[in-house]
Amino acid sequence: RSVFESAPYIPPDLIFEVTKNYLADSDPKKVNVGAGTYRDENGQPWVLPSVRMAKSLIADCGHEYLPIAGLKSFRTGVTELVFHDTNALRNDCIASCQSLSGTGALHLAALALKKANASNGEVYITDPTWSNHELLFESLDFVVHKMPYYKNSAFDFDGYMESLKAAIPGSAIVLHTCAHNPTGCDPSQAQWKEIASVVQDRQLFPIFDSAYLGFNSGSVDADAWALKYFIEECNIEVAVALSFAKSMGLYGERTGMVAFVTRSPELAVNLNSILENVQRATVSSPVAYGSHIVSTVLNNPDIKDQWAKDLVTMSSRIQAMRQKLYDELVRLQTPGDWSPIIRQSGMFGYTGISPTQIKHMQDKYHIYMADTSRISIAGLNDKNVEYFAMAIDSTVR
Ligand code: PMP
Repeated sequence: RSVFESAPYIPPDLIFEVTKNYLADSDPKKVNVGAGTYRDENGQPWVLPSVRMAKSLIADCGHEYLPIAGLKSFRTGVTELVFHDTNALRNDCIASCQSLSGTGALHLAALALKKANASNGEVYITDPTWSNHELLFESLDFVVHKMPYYKNSAFDFDGYMESLKAAIPGSAIVLHTCAHNPTGCDPSQAQWKEIASVVQDRQLFPIFDSAYLGFNSGSVDADAWALKYFIEECNIEVAVALSFAKSMGLYGERTGMVAFVTRSPELAVNLNSILENVQRATVSSPVAYGSHIVSTVLNNPDIKDQWAKDLVTMSSRIQAMRQKLYDELVRLQTPGDWSPIIRQSGMFGYTGISPTQIKHMQDKYHIYMADTSRISIAGLNDKNVEYFAMAIDSTVR
C-alpha cells in the first residue's frame, strides 16, 4: 500500500493548458490570445532594447548569493521609481524585500501581514480576478471572500461598493493598481476616492497588486495613481506587490519586490525584519540575474530613457490592436456591442463569448483563449487581427 493512496489529483490552472494546446496545433493560421505575455508585431516574444543594453553591462555579474532582502541597488531603484516624491519615502516609512516576481511579492506580503499581527486572516479579492489570487491566499490559510466586480461589460461599482461596505474590519483587500486582470476595467479616479474612504472606514488593509505598472499606459506614475492617492492623500498603510515580468519582459527571471508603507520609520524597520524573516523561511535569498538587469536599467539614465520608450512601444501597440480589432468588428457589422474592447485597458480584453463559442473558435479557427473569454490583446498583430475578427464574426452570428 502506497503512502500516496489517498493523494488527490489536483487539476492544473486551465490557462496553462491553452498554451499547451496552441503549441501542439500545427495549423499555420493558429493564434494564441491565451497567456498574458507580450508579443511583438510578428507575434514573437520581445526582449526590450533597454534590457539588452543592461545585459551587455552586467555580463560579469557573477553568481553569488544576494542578501536575504535582495540586491540593495535594485531595492532602492525600485523604491525610488514607484514612491518618488512621496512623504512615505522622504520619511523612511517604506520597508521592502526583493521577491520571486509578483507572485512571490503577494506571498511575502501575506506572510508578513500574519507575522506583523496585522491580519485577521481574511482577504477580499475581486470576482473575477487573476486566476492565482484565490489559490495563493487559501494556501496561506487566509479565508478568501469574493467581491462582485464586473457587470454589463463594465466595472460593477455599485456591487463592489456594497460588498466593500460590508467587509469584515481588519481584513486584507487585494486592489489591482491598474489594468484589472482579467476584465481590463479599472475604477475611475472618483471611484478610487470612494473606495479609499470605505477602506479607511472599515479599517481594511490594501494589498496593491501592481503587476502592470508602466506597461498599462506607458507611464509608471500614471499607472500608480491609485496607490499614490491611498498613501499620500489618505495616509493609509499598504502593501505593494511589484513585478518586472510585464514591464521589462522579464517573465522567467522572476524579478519583483514587495513594499510595505508604514506609519513611522521605526515600524518600517520592524517590517523589514519581518520580511527578511519570511523570505528566509521560504526561499532564503532571491534570484540574482533579473535584479541586476532591473537595477542597471533604473540606475543608468540612458538605459532608463530607453526603457521609457520601450514601455510606450508595448502599451501603444496593444492600444492600436484594440482599436484595430474594434474597427474590424464594426466594419464586419458583427452582432453585439464591441465598444468595451476599446474602453478596457491593459493587456486583456473581455469578449463575453460563451464556452461553446470559445470551443468553436479553437476547433474551426485554431484560436486559443482562456475559458473565461478573456483575450490577450498582445497576441494580436497586423497579420492576424483581421483573421481573428473574422473568426469572432462568424462564431457569434
Ligand atoms: N497579479 C496579477 C494581477 C497578474 O496578472 C500577474 C501576472 N499574470 C501577477 C500578479 C504575477 O505575475 P508574476 O509572478 O509573473 O510577476
